[in-house]
Amino acid sequence: MPERAGVIDLRSDTVTRPTPGMRAAMATAEVGDDVFGEDPTVRQLEEHVAELLGKEAALFVPSGTMSNQICIKIHTQPGDELICDVNSHIYNYEAGGPAVLSGVTCRTIEGDCGIFDLSQLEGLIRPENDHLVRTRLVCLENTHNRGGGRIFPLQKIRAITEWAHRHGLFVHLDGARLWNASVATGIPLHDWARDCDSVSVCFSKGLGAPVGSALAGSKELVKRARRIRKLLGGGMRQAGVLAAAALYAIKHHWSRLAEDHEHAQILAQTVRHTPGLRLFPSVIETNILYADIDPRLGTAADLAQALRERGVLVLPVAQQRIRLVTHLDVSRAQVERAAALLEQTARYLATRAA
Ligand SMILES: *Cc1c(COP(=O)(O)O)cnc(C)c1O
Repeated sequence: MPERAGVIDLRSDTVTRPTPGMRAAMATAEVGDDVFGEDPTVRQLEEHVAELLGKEAALFVPSGTMSNQICIKIHTQPGDELICDVNSHIYNYEAGGPAVLSGVTCRTIEGDCGIFDLSQLEGLIRPENDHLVRTRLVCLENTHNRGGGRIFPLQKIRAITEWAHRHGLFVHLDGARLWNASVATGIPLHDWARDCDSVSVCFSKGLGAPVGSALAGSKELVKRARRIRKLLGGGMRQAGVLAAAALYAIKHHWSRLAEDHEHAQILAQTVRHTPGLRLFPSVIETNILYADIDPRLGTAADLAQALRERGVLVLPVAQQRIRLVTHLDVSRAQVERAAALLEQTARYLATRAA
């Protein structure tokens, strides 16, 4: 993999750059005007994704944020409420999209690393009353970004969707990294998606495409989604060059996510045995992990800066917490090197503090 002057970038799996094979696929993609529905490569991608997710149709969109927000808009009316985990991407990292774009409030629940049980939802549906918002939608995230790449167990999803539908609620699955969940468990995408009314997946995370996400659902849902995509300025013209990257990514980079998961275990093991660092969560299931730094050693920003000076990039996400994410552009050797540097750096900060 290409290296940026030897720098090992573990901030995010979005930093991956298109590989030579992917660039070749993009260069030779057949294209047309997708706003006219005439881009054959986009159509091919949408059909392929719909099939993988076991849905009638899919829509290619510029980002995971747009994908989630379109689905929220479809499932709700202004004055409605959605229920999501307090650490969900939809609630934390989408610029207030539910409020701004759909006039929807978010009711957050305290999951365990983003994972919650049906028992936490029971009783939350607001009764019909002129004073109250209308509870309309439940949003799930799999794998969970702020939860450290946690996988939402399928049995819990089944219980939640069954309950939601029985009470007239919709369920949206933010599956930005559903690819990772399926590789880690062997459970196919369509099983995860089966009972969800809409699903969003990203091509620009671990799969390594430069741009793009897709949403999937019924034909009717996708027809409405096309219109809202246009409204939000997300109608794209010769988007086949991007869809080609996504198709290439699914074909060539999906199963290799298993390597990223193995690499995350190497980093996790190092964090576990390094004094002054604590792993979060304690069990790592996919490609994301967090390390909490003892305040006596410094802050997350101090640790990130010290690592940067040694050629390793990590993301400070809180006063005492850094994030590390493994991906296509970091080899096993680089991960091993980053792990060694992480341990050395923490030990150095500890001696400096002593
Ligand atoms: C990255 C991400 C998104 C959306 O991503 P974009 O950066 O808008 O493409 C949505 N949900 C989760 C869980 C994510 O990690």
